[in-house]
This record gives sequence, C-alpha cells and structure tokens, in this order.
Amino acid sequence: MDDTSRRGVLQGMGTGMLTALAGRGLAAVPAPAPGRKLGYAIVGLGGYATRQIMPQFRDCDHSRLVALVSGTPGKLTRYAAEYDIPASNLYSYATFDRIRDNPSIDIVYIVLPNSMHAEYSIRAAQAGKHVLCEKPMAVSVAECEAMIAASRKANRKLMIGYRSRFEPYNQLAIQLARGGHVGPTRIITAEHGFNAQPGQWRLDRAMSGGGSLMDIGIYSLNAVRYLSGEEPVSVTAVESTDRRDPRFRTVEDRIDFMLRFPSGIVANCVSSYSSNHNAYRVNGTDGFIAMEPATPYEGQRMMIRKDGVTAPRVLPKPPKTQFVGQLDHLAICVMTDQQPIVAGEEGLADLHVMEAIYRSAREGRAVTLRS
Ligand code: NDP
Repeated sequence: MDDTSRRGVLQGMGTGMLTALAGRGLAAVPAPAPGRKLGYAIVGLGGYATRQIMPQFRDCDHSRLVALVSGTPGKLTRYAAEYDIPASNLYSYATFDRIRDNPSIDIVYIVLPNSMHAEYSIRAAQAGKHVLCEKPMAVSVAECEAMIAASRKANRKLMIGYRSRFEPYNQLAIQLARGGHVGPTRIITAEHGFNAQPGQWRLDRAMSGGGSLMDIGIYSLNAVRYLSGEEPVSVTAVESTDRRDPRFRTVEDRIDFMLRFPSGIVANCVSSYSSNHNAYRVNGTDGFIAMEPATPYEGQRMMIRKDGVTAPRVLPKPPKTQFVGQLDHLAICVMTDQQPIVAGEEGLADLHVMEAIYRSAREGRAVTLRS
C-alpha cells in the first residue's frame, strides 16, 4: 500500500477499528478511550501557530487544543480566553517541563524559531509526550538524531510539520509522478522563495540555522524527494548573496542546487529570500505535471501535459484542510501505534541534504551523499 492509500484507509477508520488497532499496540502506549480526541499543547504563540494552526482544531476529528506555552503572558491571557483553556494548562518556557504532570496533554506541537526545535522536542519527549515539530526539524543533523533518540527512548511519536503531504494536489502529484503518468520522471524543477522582510529571527543565523534554504528552500528539497520517492546521491549548489544587503549579514539569500537521484532523475531547485517563487514541475518522457502555486496554505493549481495536450486538473474542494489532516494524522498514529508518514526520519533526511548543499556551495564542488 502506498502512502496515499494508507492514509485514505486510516482517515476512513471508525472508532471501533482504531480501538482494535490500539489494542495491538505496545503495552507501554496506553490505548485512548473510544472517540477520544487527543490533547495538543502549542509551544510558541507566533504568526504560524496563532493564525494558521490554532483555528484548525475546531474542524479536527481526533485532536483538540488543550494547552498553551508562551514567553509572553499577554498572549497566554488572550488566547486562553479565545480557546477556552483553563489557567492550569498555561505554561511559560520556565514551567514547560511541568507538562509531565498534565495527563490532558498527549501531543506537544513545537512552533518556535528553528534553533529551539531540538531542545523543546527533547524536553517534551522526556516529559512523556508525543511531538509534532515544525520544519525545519532542527538546525543540524546532530540535533535531528538527538530528537529521534529522545522520542525512541521515551517510546513516543515524533512527526515533522510537512503539511503539503496532507494536501490533495500534492498527494495526487506524488501518485502521478511515481506512477509514471507522464512516463518515467527525468527532470524535476522546484522553486520556492519570497522577499524576506528585515528585523526577524529568520535573518539571524543563531536563531534560524541558515537563510532561505532552512525556511523556504526546504519546500523545494522536500518536494523533489517526495515526487521522486528517492534519496539524492549527489548535490551541487551555488550561493548568490549580496552581503551588502543588511538582511543577509549572517544568512544566505539565494542558493540554487542540483540533485542527482539513483534512477537518473535530476532535480534543479531554487531557494530564495529575494524573489517570489512557489512552483514545481515533474518532467517525464511523455509530458509534465506542473504545480503553481505548489505548496501555499491554499489555492494550489495543477497543469498536466500528456499525449500532446496540456490541461488543468481541478480537484473538488476537500472537506478538511491540510492543517487538519496533519493534526489528525499524528493523533491517529498515536492511537493506532503507527509511524507518521512524515516522522523524524523525514526531517533528518532533509537536514542531511541541506548540510551537503551548504557544503557544496562553500567548497565549490559536487558533494556525494550516502545512499
Ligand atoms: P514567529 O516569529 O511568528 O513566532 C515564533 C514564536 O516563538 C514567537 O512569537 C514567540 O512566541 C516564540 N519565541 C520564543 N523565543 C523566541 C525568540 N528568542 N525569538 C523569537 N520568537 C521566540 O515565527 P513563525 O510562527 O513564522 O515560525 C515558527 C516556526 O514555524 C518556524 O520553525 C517556521 O519554520 C515554522 N513555520 C512553518 C510554516 C509551515 O507552513 N509549515 C509556516 C510558517 C512558519 P511567544 O511569544 O509565545 O513565546
């Protein structure tokens, strides 16, 4: 069963089936009561958490928002009132570890600046909680490995916020590309970028771990990996950064990278903090699958060329958003003791390649990756 059909089956499961599966889970993973929604704590009440994620819980079947963690007391007051969260479920970063004593929290969703992902994911696992961590998983391979080790030791799930895997157009693009709908894939192009505004943590390497690649170029990288279904064997990268631009004192602006895959697929990718891109295109022997925009919050558009005819592919509006799909997927995985489709290993795989991209750009040569 491929990822997409497996997800379809899981999402279609009734509570009885979930309970039966939970019964087969490891003894150390307590089975939730039938129909129970798992409780999420959101850590870091910034733009993405408050504007995109928190409003989604009202549409979730298996997830509910039960706790908040913030360094800003005013946000705790405001959002606790908005989402009806009791004072006993509000935490600061200093009191974070007390989530251990709160059984209503099943999953901790880390929506902090990148350099804080590893620390809070590990502390959450040590507190006995499952973790959903935003992308990039962390700022180094070593941090990713420590996060995976901590979740394994605690026998808890770890998932990365690769929301596009829960978005129908991207799911279809994966099926079509890997299924050879336009012939075997030969070349994939992927472009992601936006014009970064000054004065934010994303432009401070100590907080972000890097520039456009860590933040937005990761969408190009992750897409070419999920569209090909393969891991790259080599990378060649070129960085273009105007260091006189005050935004780019410590992080890169543009980094273009080419990946070679075992089957012979070549991916050409753009990552930019000074130009606007959101697209990918899978070129097969017989046509192409193009998505533009490819990975926004909503409004994906797909165009397919096959047998000499180019036509848009329009899907019905899905009943649930990609954000709801993501939140409920981890809840279902916890209840059924399944590995998330975007587990920690997926974030680690991206970091492996990103470290090689930076190295290639720095050393001006192709870098070979472990297959
Ligand atoms: P914001 O700057 O809007 O929010 C980050 C929050 O982290 C802050 O509001 C603050 O919340 C908390 N924080 C704690 N310490 C610090 C610190 N030293 N400096 C700054 N903030 C701090 O960032 P985003 O919400 O845009 O991004 C957060 C994460 O989500 C990133 O990893 C990013 O890559 C990811 N993201 C993912 C997206 C996706 O589509 N998957 C889209 C956007 C972001 P508080 O005041 O509550 O402590």
